[in-house]
Amino acid sequence: MKPCTQCGKCCQHYSDGGLSATSEEIDWWQTFRPEIARYVDDGQIWMHPETGERLPECPFLTADAARADEQSITSASAANAGGRVRYSCSIYHDRPDDCRHYPVSIDEMRRDGCEMLELRDLDNPIRAQRALDQLMSDSRPPLSGPVASTERGATQRTQ
Ligand code: SF4
Ligand code: SF4
Repeated sequence: MKPCTQCGKCCQHYSDGGLSATSEEIDWWQTFRPEIARYVDDGQIWMHPETGERLPECPFLTADAARADEQSITSASAANAGGRVRYSCSIYHDRPDDCRHYPVSIDEMRRDGCEMLELRDLDNPIRAQRALDQLMSDSRPPLSGPVASTERGATQRTQ
């Protein structure tokens, strides 16, 4: 299992309707982070603040400008030129649990093309799941092993 490469695929894949926030998270944003809450409409994320339409991509997903600057080109042209653009979350510490819990399962990562996966993980998905659960132990309960699993992120992302 490799570290996250910040490829952004997970955010791009799920942020147009595959993510949800709890009422507690939304209440907290409304009180302390209204700039996040403005992208919530009727409990749904991420919605256009004026039109209420679902956004095609999370407004907090940010291409790594420093890297683009370093190359004296924009992120878009870096991508067009085959360069590597990294992505980050501009609300990282206040992102919803649904984001915080990713990646949940090896199947999900395989489906999403997550770049943390290595060939040996695919050869032994049970061992890989344990390694992933260990890696994510600060963010969510394990999916494998004796402790009851959390299917929350996995089920919501299969929409
Ligand atoms: S809130 Fe952050 S982690 Fe969640 S989809 Fe947006 S950029 Fe990605
Ligand atoms: S798809 Fe995997 S490697 Fe890419 S940003 Fe998401 S967690 Fe990281």
